[in-house]
Amino acid sequence: MMEKLFDEYRGLSDKKIRPNEPKSEQFLKAFKELLDKKNNWAFLLPFKLSLEACTHCGTCAEACPVYIGSGREKIYSPVYRADMLRRIYKKYFTLSGRIFGRLVGAKEITERDVNALAEAAYRCTICRRCALACPFGLDNGLIMREARKILAELGIVPDELKEEGVENQITYGSAPKIPYEALMNILDFVKSEIEENRKNVNIEVPVDKVGAKYLIINNAGDYLSFLDTIRGIVEIMNYVNEDWTFNSQNTGVFDNVNYGLFYSDKDMIRVIRAHLETFKKLKPEYVVVGECGHAYDVLGHLMKDLIPAEERPFKVIHIVELYDKFLREGKLKLDKDKNSAPVTFHDSCKIGRCGGIYDEPRRLIAASCRDFREMYPNREYNYCCGGGGGFALMSKYNFLDFRMKTYGKLKVQQIKDTGASTLITICANCKRQFLDMVSYYNLNTTVSGLSEIIANALVY
Ligand code: SF4
Ligand code: SF4
Repeated sequence: MMEKLFDEYRGLSDKKIRPNEPKSEQFLKAFKELLDKKNNWAFLLPFKLSLEACTHCGTCAEACPVYIGSGREKIYSPVYRADMLRRIYKKYFTLSGRIFGRLVGAKEITERDVNALAEAAYRCTICRRCALACPFGLDNGLIMREARKILAELGIVPDELKEEGVENQITYGSAPKIPYEALMNILDFVKSEIEENRKNVNIEVPVDKVGAKYLIINNAGDYLSFLDTIRGIVEIMNYVNEDWTFNSQNTGVFDNVNYGLFYSDKDMIRVIRAHLETFKKLKPEYVVVGECGHAYDVLGHLMKDLIPAEERPFKVIHIVELYDKFLREGKLKLDKDKNSAPVTFHDSCKIGRCGGIYDEPRRLIAASCRDFREMYPNREYNYCCGGGGGFALMSKYNFLDFRMKTYGKLKVQQIKDTGASTLITICANCKRQFLDMVSYYNLNTTVSGLSEIIANALVY
């Protein structure tokens, strides 16, 4: 077992954290750079406000699923984790901290602090539920994200996010390195499966079509683990008879994910740039983000802050918004009796709380399913599934136990309370977390995307 650095869990190996190597000087240098507007203009203001204005009232703790799910262990309260960085900030970057030190909560950095913070920063899913609760709108999730950015400058990033995530995606077109032939085989299989089920229906699966109205870019995890979602997308797009396309590595990056979001603006922008190259080649009117939450957050929102408008001559929407448009235009004829089992819906943090998409999936579910049951709390107050912040990808060492035993427990109860047999979610990362939960807790729950639910209800 690796050395304990923060709690009994480990998300990063000793090889990454290098606990015996001095890093504090480098840490302070990277922290200072992050406090410079030219390096961090998009996030600096809320970051500084969150560092400086906390009154330690504790309101945010009762909003944090990690804290609640842990049995309210002090080390998991949002403010405890954020204070690990706040105290260093006070000591080195504020006048009062320099003069009054511990009297104002400032603390000199130690090597132990850096090591503990490295693990602590990967105990927050960056779900931002705490920011909703804070009377001042302070964002402890953002503080943890900025801490990850500092740590990334020291080379401390989980392999799952950088080497196996961003680097693979940029080199091979997708994080799981799906070869072109395999992708084509998968799509051929999807086509023949639909044609088999829907007799007398011709299915087209356009790939890399230039100038299509809708370019649908999926989370590559769906091609491997949630083929039903891909089948649903293909069936719906054929049903409405719209001009659309998927893409492959022949035109660049075809995986919509951006794991840079979770640890480094520099890597996040590298992935955005790679996506832009692809979009430039394919010239769509709309980039439609398939069932993925963080991809939607980056392409739908953050990209607008980071990339000039003339470099993005297309609109970005989530696929659920597109389906909802088709529904409102009367292009989807649905029979809710085709999905008669009780279903519930999980609001993904990046699509709901960060993206404001709540009504669209509910309208679609109401039109496609006979028995919809809300989980409570829901919408902006919904609990993160626990896969946020990159955690859905992280199971090494004993991190799966952390994901399952803290907030995982809370989410499982929320689902069980609905009595639903199917859980619908519109984010591939959430689906991954839920699949792990189903197997860890031996649940009798089917995890589904929304695309396949809608496709199943189509009336021909
Ligand atoms: S962002 Fe989410 S997990 Fe992180 S401290 Fe806030 S509520 Fe807790
Ligand atoms: S609710 Fe806001 S002010 Fe209160 S402890 Fe949390 S972050 Fe600080």
